[in-house]
Amino acid sequence: MSASADNGPIPIALVGIGKIARDQHIPAITGDARFELAATVSRSGGVDGVENHATLSELLEARPDIPVVSLCMPPVPRFSIAQEAIAARKHVMLEKPPGASVAEVFRLEALAREAGVTLFTTWHSRAAAGVAPAKSWLADKRITSLRIDWKEDVRKWHPGQAWIWEPGGLGVFDPGINALSILTEICPVPLHLVGAELTFPGNRAAPIAADLTFTDGGELKASAAFDWRQEGGEIWQIEIETDAGQLRLIEGGARLFVDGAEQPVDAVGEYPTLYAQLGQLIAEGRSDVDVTPLIHVSDAFMLGRHVHADPFHD
Ligand code: NAP
Repeated sequence: MSASADNGPIPIALVGIGKIARDQHIPAITGDARFELAATVSRSGGVDGVENHATLSELLEARPDIPVVSLCMPPVPRFSIAQEAIAARKHVMLEKPPGASVAEVFRLEALAREAGVTLFTTWHSRAAAGVAPAKSWLADKRITSLRIDWKEDVRKWHPGQAWIWEPGGLGVFDPGINALSILTEICPVPLHLVGAELTFPGNRAAPIAADLTFTDGGELKASAAFDWRQEGGEIWQIEIETDAGQLRLIEGGARLFVDGAEQPVDAVGEYPTLYAQLGQLIAEGRSDVDVTPLIHVSDAFMLGRHVHADPFHD
């Protein structure tokens, strides 16, 4: 299905109106002349002043003129909704992680190709201001060691989100995968996971902490520590030693330092960047599907040693 901004903004529907839809997607769409928020699909009511449908099927029936849907619900229910949208020949944007498993994302990629629509697996942290300049700086360097610390207070960032503790919700990998999305974007050599320790509260099906070790198959030392028990302010940092100095990304990739000196960055905003990319992909008739961060998470669940911790209560 084609969609063009030539005749005015492209109508888009947002599906799953929760925290990220309200905090980021709605302001980004409202601020982007390429798109117009034409409808929502929400079981809980949607957004004041915007046409709402209780299910995607109802939206598809009522608004065949809307060519793009952006899916903001948790990962487990996402596949069947994306499959239905693609079958209706809609362009589909997926929140991170793009699925609850690697295989289902490959399936969606194939379905989108057959339908001739755009599928965009977004990784919002890759659009953080420091990430593109970090990638450029690292491109001709040899990395000797790499350390990720991604630690936040789950009670502050995910209050009452029951799904995040269930199978497919990813637990601490829900934020941790943001770090892995930056890593897989900026690291000039491919890494694979060789070991993990996952800490599960006795009453939960997903980990509250994870320690990961990666290799490039050579001398490079790489590790990541994800923890949801952080108190006193979050740490979202990646520190990389190279043969030509040290690179440090902090605040989730928003700020970049080389050898301790802060570098100038272009702060467009993560979600405005994602919607600009979506517009570009649709205009060019392309998809952008990348599962590499999810593969690291999947490998951590496969190779990880499980450690049990005290029960967690919200
Ligand atoms: P959330 O607020 O807990 O839920 C999002 C919305 O999804 C809900 O309000 C609900 O919307 C819909 N939903 C929930 N369960 C559903 C189900 N079983 N079937 C269909 N729809 C369902 O979650 P969130 O924090 O926005 O996160 C959603 C996704 O965005 C996750 O993949 C997360 O990793 C990603 N993300 C979150 C953040 C963040 O800061 N929270 C940041 C970046 C990315 P309705 O009531 O409208 O149906």
